[in-house]
Amino acid sequence: MSVIGIDFGNDTCYVAVARTGGIETIDNDYSLRATPSVVAFGERSRILGTAAKNQMVANLKNTLFGFKRFIGRNFADPIVEREMARYPFTVCSNETGRVGFRVEYLNESRFFTPEQAAAMLFTKLKQTSETALGQKVSDCVISCPAYFTDSERCSLLDAAQMAGLNVLRLMNDTASTALNYGMYKQDIIPAVEEPSRNVVFVDCGHSSFQVFACAFNKGKLKMLATCSDHELGGRDFDEALANYFCEEFRGKYNIEVKSHPKAYIRLLGEVEKLKKQMSANSTKLPINIECFVNEKDVSSSMQRNDFEALCGPLFARAETTMKKCLDDSGLSPESIVAVEIVGGSTRIPAIKLLIEKIFGKTPSTTLNQDEAVARGCALQCAMLSPNFKVKDINITDVHHYGVNVVYAEKDSSEGVMEVFPRYHPVPFSRKLTFYRKEPFTIRAQYINEVPFPTQIIGIFKFLNIKPSPEGDAIKVQIKARINIHGCFVIEGATWIQKSEVEVEQPMETESNEVPADENASKPENVEETKSEESVPAETESSADKDAEKEKKTVKVKKTVGKSVDLPYERKIFGLCREDLGVFVEDEAKMVADDQFEKERIDAKNTLEEYIYEMRSKLEEELSDYAEETFKHDFTQKLSELENWLYDEGENQQKKIYCQHLEELKKIGEPIKDLRREDLERPRAIQELERVI
Ligand code: ATP
Ligand code: MG
Repeated sequence: MSVIGIDFGNDTCYVAVARTGGIETIDNDYSLRATPSVVAFGERSRILGTAAKNQMVANLKNTLFGFKRFIGRNFADPIVEREMARYPFTVCSNETGRVGFRVEYLNESRFFTPEQAAAMLFTKLKQTSETALGQKVSDCVISCPAYFTDSERCSLLDAAQMAGLNVLRLMNDTASTALNYGMYKQDIIPAVEEPSRNVVFVDCGHSSFQVFACAFNKGKLKMLATCSDHELGGRDFDEALANYFCEEFRGKYNIEVKSHPKAYIRLLGEVEKLKKQMSANSTKLPINIECFVNEKDVSSSMQRNDFEALCGPLFARAETTMKKCLDDSGLSPESIVAVEIVGGSTRIPAIKLLIEKIFGKTPSTTLNQDEAVARGCALQCAMLSPNFKVKDINITDVHHYGVNVVYAEKDSSEGVMEVFPRYHPVPFSRKLTFYRKEPFTIRAQYINEVPFPTQIIGIFKFLNIKPSPEGDAIKVQIKARINIHGCFVIEGATWIQKSEVEVEQPMETESNEVPADENASKPENVEETKSEESVPAETESSADKDAEKEKKTVKVKKTVGKSVDLPYERKIFGLCREDLGVFVEDEAKMVADDQFEKERIDAKNTLEEYIYEMRSKLEEELSDYAEETFKHDFTQKLSELENWLYDEGENQQKKIYCQHLEELKKIGEPIKDLRREDLERPRAIQELERVI
């Protein structure tokens, strides 16, 4: 079973696959490595990836893109409000307040959530991998930005599940890039005891900007800091350019481009091309668009200097993020060995210059700028999969935000405990201890400002809590974890039920029992922290057992504790399980419908090809094998069917096309057989003569 890594970009996706020979980025059905993050809806099927982007201008209302930005959000979210202004399709709310898109699909109005749109794209990427590998694919690692909050992460996991993918890890694209670097630079990475190789990475993609610092030693990497501007990327440069030309065309041609959505989308495509050209040339470059609005051709030009002046405020934001990362990492520019660039927009010369200015290094491009994230994900997937043996690299990723737990105090004020400070290594578990006589609620929330309307991650209510028989508060332990996907979870809650038992004990041994009121002197809400790895396993000493048997024993009463699970309720983001089942089924049905439609189209194409093939062959190579009247009648039948195909035969069921093909083959194949026999006869005679 192969495993894959998916870079889920706002603009494009890449899929890399782990094979025994190494990591390989795979081509899609258009022989391209980049698959646009676009899904579209037609009268008869969905259109996914490259094909969806190709038909975008003709089907604007029913073509979804940029949906990564909507994942896990409600309609009332201010980011949704800002985002929806950018798109020509309908962004709306469902009855629960979730954001989604309304499109025409199979001649019906349908509402799809961003998670469903992402699932459709994942379906496409899954199919691409299965075609490339010739086998079923399920296990994968998917990338997401380090700044993604719990809600976005849970929703992304839901999307993957809808597409039938088993996500072994939702990996920060920061960590996957660093892993990709660490794995292939082992020869120049210092030994564990030596000072680490500190590398800064700058990833400027389509809609976000991330700068992160990482320390490498042989066999391990440690993320030091991850900083981001989650609303700065290639599309902002495109928009700045488009706005500039909208203004210019208003004056020059009297065109209100923004009132023509199709024209505006075309303009965005053209300025993106111009932007890319400006990355390579500093001379004046033209922009020409034919039949732009009302059949009018438009043209203008720009050079790199103008672009840099226009986007000055955007570059200033990039500079702020880089400086913050330098501060957060605690590194000096001198201690940074290299600055690696990834993501499409780091090709912009002004960004490279900023890197030089801040870090004092010429940016390196030793990584494949576009594929590094997917390749790192595939590597991680192979490391997590039991089917692969990969040189293990110990990855210490960090949590982008700090997490607090807020609880009610006795005097009804709120107490706060910092469970995971910012940049805490993840995955990681901590035990939280509370002393309570009755059910209680805690609220997990981010400490730092998040790109989300609420800081709250989840609300957890712990039930079945009663005072001890003595009327005291019981000690409740809660296991909180940032899991492998970067999500905050409560993994369980327990209390220690104490009871007295009689045990035999050697006379001379001092009692080592734990007193029942061990913690009685501690205040309530004491936080106990332990990494999961450091929890000592319970051990039973077996030393000198035989010798002890000889010793005299005495019966004593001892208090023992038994850990009892406590039920709890939680209110978190993400889709509820029940709904997810419906969405999983819905996606599977749409996949089946697409397959059905594909087979129908294939049958139609096969019939059409047979008509063309027979018509031309009857005039050429098959001409001598059929009577004139036969040829005349057959050609006429072929033409009739061709006309039918373009008329009422345009949208028939697969079986109708198959029936027609069979009918034609009954007539055409015997003539083909005649020719085949004729061609084979001399060879058969030769063979016979040789044998004789
Ligand atoms: P994100 O990481 O934000 O979710 P993404 O991973 O899809 O998005 P990338 O594929 O890294 O984004 O980058 C795509 C962006 O890079 C596009 O905006 C594209 O215009 C831009 N880009 C690609 N090549 C160049 C170039 N030569 N000069 C300037 N910009 C470029
Ligand atoms: Mg990216």
